[in-house]
Parts: sequence; structure tokens; C-alpha cells
Amino acid sequence: MMQKNNKSILYVTSMNRKLFDVTGYKFINSFISSETEGDLIVASETLRDIIDPLAEITNGRTVKISCYNLQEDKFYTDWLEENKGIIPERYGGLAKPCDCQTSNSWENHKRGCHWNNFNQRAVNWLVKPVSLNYALQQYSKVYPYVVWLDCDIILKQRIPEKFIHNIFKDCGCFYHLGPNRKSRDTGIESGVCGFSQKNRGFDLLRKFIDVYNNKQFHRYSRWDDGYLFRKIVEGNPDIPTKDLVGPHREQEFAHVVKHGIFAPYIDHDKGSHHRKYKVV
Ligand SMILES: [Zn+2]
Repeated sequence: MMQKNNKSILYVTSMNRKLFDVTGYKFINSFISSETEGDLIVASETLRDIIDPLAEITNGRTVKISCYNLQEDKFYTDWLEENKGIIPERYGGLAKPCDCQTSNSWENHKRGCHWNNFNQRAVNWLVKPVSLNYALQQYSKVYPYVVWLDCDIILKQRIPEKFIHNIFKDCGCFYHLGPNRKSRDTGIESGVCGFSQKNRGFDLLRKFIDVYNNKQFHRYSRWDDGYLFRKIVEGNPDIPTKDLVGPHREQEFAHVVKHGIFAPYIDHDKGSHHRKYKVV
């Protein structure tokens, strides 16, 4: 377990062995080689033997990385047990196809149907709130900032602590959405997002995590993390948040990090796990 230190940013990611093999190892290498200021938790069920030896690498600086074993996480294991009725068999659950009159897994399902294509994959996205819940419970008094990075990211250069600090000057949470996504009923791009102790950012993160508890998410049409995150942000307008994506002409709206202020620091090969590597 990490000790209290003088760093202010806790970065959090998650990956399984397949994701580690295709992109995760590159992300971790880039976190180390860029000498990004902060510590990193990698939440995983199987990677402890690989991740933990990387801790305390000294290269003029100390980089701290630790693995959090998801198999020990009660929120995670309880959720899987309580929700096996909505998790498809191919992801380890017991769910059967719905009785909506549709042959398409994307369209025309009843609101909140478990067989909607987004909702079939809810269990894959669950690791994000689970990992962030662990970070919040264990470290909210140690680090004033918690920043999530998906493991299909490469850090191109060091993210300075001051850069993160400046973003949080007048908000409690940052994310990527942009005008093109905003105009559609689609989710926030939650591959790069952050929360601060100040400005009630950790309160907002708590609300996002809680939506996964007690089947609260059933009230929403989609159960992917980006969609639920957007609903929580929009439902709490009193908590100051910041969309880091400025106006952009490009019609293609899935890849928005490159239009935001993290663009000099981050390459986000979003969707590559599915599109390029066929692992999810
Ligand atoms: Zn359905």
C-alpha cells in the first residue's frame, strides 16, 4: 500500500491480462518514461505479479505504481453476484436474450433493457467505478486529485502536476465531451477524467459510483460508464465541472481527447481494443 507522500495526483487505470498485452504495457511504460508527476494504481484481477515489481523505479525520480487486486474487492464481487441475471453468459453471467421485438442488439429495446448492446457490456465498464471507489475510499485524504486514464492511452510527454492543478482551480471535475457529442444523447468520453477534493469533485465521484449500487442504474436507458457519468454531471449542476473539449469542426465525434487540452500529452487510441485487437 502506498504511503502518504508529497505527490498530489493519484492516477487510476484498470486492465486485464488481454488489455495489458495489447495496449496496457505501452501505457504503463509511457507513464514511467514520461516521468509524469503522480502515482498510479492499476486495478486488475491478474496482473499483480507484473505490476508490483515496477514500483519504485528510480530514474532520477521515483515512480510509484501499485496493483489493486479486484478479486479482493467486495463492491466488485457483490455486484457480479447480485447482477448475474443481467450479465450475458459470454461474460460469466446467466442473462438470456430479452423479449423486446427486435433482432438488433443496438436498437428498439425497451428503456433499460439488459440486452441493449451497451447494457450487455455493462460488466466490462464496471471496473471503472469499482477502481475509482477503491481510490476514493483509500486515498481521498492522501491525494487531493484523482485522475482516471484508460489503458488504451499513451502519454507522449510528462503531465506536469501544475497542469492538473490549474484545471481544478475553478472546478471539481473535468471530462471530455465537446459540442458534437453534447448535441447527441451520448455519453461523456470518460477515458480521461478527473476529480478533486476541492470544489466537491469527490462528492460528484461518489454519486457516480453510487449509481451502480442497489440497481440504481436500471433507471437509465444505458448502463455504460460514459452515459451514466454524463447523467450524474447534468443532474448535479451545483457542482462545478469542466468540459475540456473546445469547438471542433470535425463531424466524427467519438475521438474527442485530441480536441481537448490534454492533446499535447495524450494519444488516445479509443476503441482499439475492440476495433484493432478484437479483445473485447
Ligand atoms: Zn430488449
